[in-house]
Amino acid sequence: MAPNRKTLPQHKGTSLPDIHTLSHGQLVAFMEELHQPKFRASQIEEWVWGKNAHTFDEMSNLPKSLRDLLSQHLTIGTPKELARQISLDGSRKYLLQFTDGVSAECVGMPTKNRLTVCASTQAGCGMGCTFCATGKAGLARSLTASEIYEQVRHIGDDFHTRVTSVVLMGQGEPFMNYDETLKALRLLNSDKGVGIGARHLTVSTCGIIPGIKKFANEKEQFGLAVSLHSANQATRNKLMPGVRKYSLLYLYDVMGEYVDKTGRRPTYEYALIHGVNDTDTELDALCDFCRGTLAHVNLIQLNEVPGSPFTPSTEERANQFVQRLGSVGVAATIRNPRGADIDAACGQLSQAYTKC
Ligand code: SAH
Ligand code: SF4
Repeated sequence: MAPNRKTLPQHKGTSLPDIHTLSHGQLVAFMEELHQPKFRASQIEEWVWGKNAHTFDEMSNLPKSLRDLLSQHLTIGTPKELARQISLDGSRKYLLQFTDGVSAECVGMPTKNRLTVCASTQAGCGMGCTFCATGKAGLARSLTASEIYEQVRHIGDDFHTRVTSVVLMGQGEPFMNYDETLKALRLLNSDKGVGIGARHLTVSTCGIIPGIKKFANEKEQFGLAVSLHSANQATRNKLMPGVRKYSLLYLYDVMGEYVDKTGRRPTYEYALIHGVNDTDTELDALCDFCRGTLAHVNLIQLNEVPGSPFTPSTEERANQFVQRLGSVGVAATIRNPRGADIDAACGQLSQAYTKC
């Protein structure tokens, strides 16, 4: 066992800290302690974040003695792929397991010249939305920034191509894991990491108001989607009991502030559920909620979840929603579910957290 190093976080027992958990400052201090030049920290970061190194040994521009020291004092955890499924549309869903045995799903969705990743911010979710498979399973734990980041790297490596955009629409509620989510977005955005433009990094929230307020003040141009699913308070309370305490009126005001502050167009996600949130009254309420705002409405026919009483609205009804919203000046589109045949579409990610 190597002697403790005072600049590294101390762990209980014999477990070593993972290099992904060190801040830049910690890594620089550690290099100083090892009497290494400062630039070694940047070289190591380039391997860890830029090249997705899986071992210290492959860091070929570091002296062997330093690589040995690194492996004596740190680990370099990478997720293990437990399972994968490939959709007819080319999407791939992965179940990745992290070092403590917790696992979460992520999806790679290729289109011509583009690769979009849908990543999870938590293993499972504690918000309990009644139409969502992830919500039914409950929360195992939040993921670290590095675990969120690694999903994207894993998928980029698997497709042998650059990831062009990331949506945090997998398992979990990003704003119940705000700090790690932001850290992950910054790593993805940074030139040291994947270098994805902020406008191509989108967070989806079920409407955690303190998170939206904070997000509005972040300096980067990250995108925001809010899962609305009903502009009628009673219906929304039933569908999304976890956000009952944040009323629609409050959400409306805060989204107005978000637009004023950022000038960015938010998206409202709306999964159309037959007879529940697709009635004329619901459509009127949705038009009232969105009219005169910058918001774009993303309609999706509900993805069916086993054991759920809900069924999707018809395509015809979805088109009527688009037209009616358009007639009051609200841009709306229907989103095609990707990977629905492998349960990789929104709300179908549920194989959350087998603890081995
Ligand atoms: N927790 C965040 C992000 C993850 S859920 C959120 O709720 O926004 C990703 C998206 O899938 C959300 O818009 C969510 O409402 C939607 N979704 C969940 N279950 C769904 C289902 N069965 N059919 C269609 N969309 C669903
Ligand atoms: Fe959680 Fe989002 Fe599913 Fe609601 S819709 S349970 S917030 S993952």
